[in-house]
Amino acid sequence: MSVGKNLLYEGKAKIIYITDEPEILLAHFKDDATAFNAQKRGRIVGKGEINCKISQLLFQYLEERGIRTHFIDCPAPNQMRVMRVQIFPLEVVVRNIAAGSLCQQTGLPLGTVLKQPLVEFYYKNDQLGDPLLTRDRLLLMELATPEQLDQLQQQALEINHHLSEFFQSCGITLVDFKLEFGLDTQGTIRLADEISPDTCRLWNSSETDPNNRVMDKDRFRRDLGNVENAYQQVLERIQMRIQGLEVRGQEKGEL
Ligand code: C5P
Repeated sequence: MSVGKNLLYEGKAKIIYITDEPEILLAHFKDDATAFNAQKRGRIVGKGEINCKISQLLFQYLEERGIRTHFIDCPAPNQMRVMRVQIFPLEVVVRNIAAGSLCQQTGLPLGTVLKQPLVEFYYKNDQLGDPLLTRDRLLLMELATPEQLDQLQQQALEINHHLSEFFQSCGITLVDFKLEFGLDTQGTIRLADEISPDTCRLWNSSETDPNNRVMDKDRFRRDLGNVENAYQQVLERIQMRIQGLEVRGQEKGEL
């Protein structure tokens, strides 16, 4: 069976294939990197495997804390089997610290700690440049029902709570991140897409230098260099922390 025949969709960072099982898709994580709505293009060697592994570990971590995700397993280092879901055409961004478009659009200084997490919805539409939506515009366009919108907001905040705590224990500050959600065949909302340094702003907690602290795709966006190393560092810290949690879990079980 040729893989080419089963292509469902090719995005900027992933290729999605259909499989023999109608409810299961195969996501292939690419090394390709794009920024500024694909105006800047490049390649981050090893990114596909690193992002696949980081996403796997974070999806599993969240599943253990009651968040439903599309993750099934990883048949290869840069491949993930996922449940087929109907993706909401929304990018759900959660922010803890002001950076990126929030600074550009509000004038808030970079690094301002927000009093409470901010959840924003963007319309996933490259042609329109993924515009920021108001709640009323989102409902007007019927991109989700009011109940679904409340659930998306609630889940995004819960995920932020778990991920912020987790990254903090890795010595990393979770500045902001983007999530995508979908509906499974039962109509249940599931976290989809990926969670990786491509989709999160991650700052080394022990660094104050605004360039040196960056451990995410901003290194690529802003030509800061050492992109591969930064991604690898994030993976290693996550792996070490998860191993630590597993050992502690086993010790508790033995008591
Ligand atoms: O650019 P902006 O500041 O709005 O991005 C907020 C967060 O969402 C960042 O972590 C960024 O990496 C992520 N993002 C993304 N994909 C997009 C837009 C933003 O992963 N299309």
